[in-house]
Amino acid sequence: MLRNDPLEQWDRDHFIHPSTHLAQFARGDMPNRIVTGGKGVYIEDREGNRLLDGFAGLYCVNIGYGRQEVAEAIARQARELSYYHAYVGHGTEASVTLARMVVERAPENMCRVYFGLGGSDANETNIKLVWYYNNVLGRPEKKKIISRRRGYHGSGLMTGSLTGLGLFHKLFDLPLDRILHTDAPYYFRRPDPAMGEEEFSDHCAAELEALIEREGADTIAAFIGEPVLGTGGIVPPPAGYWEKIQAVLRKHDILLIADEVVTGFGRLGTMFGSVHYGMEPDIITIAKGLTSAYAPLSGSIISDRVWKVLERGGDEFGAIGHGWTYSAHPIGAAAAVANLKVIDDLGLVENAGKVGRYLNDRMAEALSGHPNVGEVRGEGMLCAVELVEDRASRSFFDPGKTVAAKAVGAMLKRGVIARAMPEGDIIGFAPPLCLTEDEADTIVRATKEAVEEVCKAV
Ligand code: PLP
Repeated sequence: MLRNDPLEQWDRDHFIHPSTHLAQFARGDMPNRIVTGGKGVYIEDREGNRLLDGFAGLYCVNIGYGRQEVAEAIARQARELSYYHAYVGHGTEASVTLARMVVERAPENMCRVYFGLGGSDANETNIKLVWYYNNVLGRPEKKKIISRRRGYHGSGLMTGSLTGLGLFHKLFDLPLDRILHTDAPYYFRRPDPAMGEEEFSDHCAAELEALIEREGADTIAAFIGEPVLGTGGIVPPPAGYWEKIQAVLRKHDILLIADEVVTGFGRLGTMFGSVHYGMEPDIITIAKGLTSAYAPLSGSIISDRVWKVLERGGDEFGAIGHGWTYSAHPIGAAAAVANLKVIDDLGLVENAGKVGRYLNDRMAEALSGHPNVGEVRGEGMLCAVELVEDRASRSFFDPGKTVAAKAVGAMLKRGVIARAMPEGDIIGFAPPLCLTEDEADTIVRATKEAVEEVCKAV
C-alpha cells in the first residue's frame, strides 16, 4: 500500500477505537499503528516495523499469525457456505463438528455448547442461562451474581458490570443491580504482609461467605471468575484459593462460571484452566483461543447439571428465547475446527507449559532483583512484572507517572509488544503459545532494558 495515501487521516477523522483516549487520538496527540501483516509471533505495520507480539493481540492469537491451514479452512467455508443460521435446529458441518471437538476437550461433566461471537456476549448468555435455570427451578429470587474486583468479563451492560475495574463503569452508569463484587485473590496486594498464601485464600473465602450471608444465599445465583485473573493484573490464584471458594459456593448452592476466555485451549499448559486448578464449574466461557482470533467465535460450555434443567425448561415452557444471528457462524466454526487441529498437531498446549515456564523463570532471574520490581509472577504462557516505588514497603508509584505505560513504550522501541495492565504499574505478557525459548529471551531482554531505563528516569 502507498505510504502517502490518506489512511492515517481517515483513521483520525472517522474511526472510534476501543479503550482509547478519543480526543487525544482524534487530535493526533497519540500515536496510531496500522497493522498490515503477521507471521508466527511477529506483526508488521505499514511503517515497516516488525514487532514481536508478546501479548498475542489481546491474548488471543494462540497459534501465532499467518497459519495457512486456518486461512484455507476459512476460505473453503466461505466458498461452500458463507452463512446459515443455527436457529430451530439448523447447523453446518463445521459447527456440529466443532461442538463435538469442544466437548471432547472440556473437563468431565460438560456436555453441550452454545456458540456466540465474543467473550462478552458469551458471558451475557451465561447470566441469562443462570437466571433461566433458577426460574425453571422455581427460585425467582436467586438471581444475584458475584464477581471479583479486578475480574474482567467483558464490556457489555451485564458483562461490564461483572468486570471489577472502575474504568469500565465510569460514566456508563454501571454496575447494574444484581451484581456484587468480592475481593480479588491478589496475594501481592494482600491486606497484611504477614499472611501466608493459604491464609490469604481463607481470608478471600471468608469475605465471600460474609457477602453471601449479608445478601442471603437464596438471592445469589452464581459466582464468576477467571482461573487466573487476566486483565486485572495477570494474577495466578494463591494456594488453596479455588478449593476454598468452591466449598463456600457448594455450601450455599451457588453455581460456578469459569471464565476461560483467556485460559481455555492451552494457555496455562493444560487444555482448560479449570482442570489446572481443580475447579468444577457449571458453565465455562470460551472465546479467544477457540479460533486463535482468525474469526470471531465464542461459546458457553454447559455441565450435565445445568443442561438437565435447560431440558426441563424446554418441556415446561417451550423453545428458549435466546439467540444471535451469528451464533455458530460457519466461518468462525471452520476457523475453530482448523485451529484446534493446529493446537493438537503442533503440541501447543504442552509448548505453552514448557516455554511459559521458561519465560517466567528467565523473567524472574532477570528482574526480581531490581529495586522497583515488586513481583514477577505468572502461570503457563502468562507472565507479569509489577513495578513499585519501594519494594520493602510495597508502596506503589503515583499513577500519574504512568511508569508501566512508559516501560511498555520503551519495549516497543526495542521491537517487543507488552501490555500495561490497568490499576497499577503492571507489565503483562501473554505471547502466542508457539513461542520459542529464543523468542522468550528476546522478550526478557527488552523488558529488563526498558524497566532499567524507565525506572532510572522517574
Ligand atoms: N472474559 C475474559 C476473561 C476476557 O479476558 C475477555 C476479553 O479480554 C472477555 C471475557 C471479553 O471478551 P470480548 O472482548 O471478546 O468480548
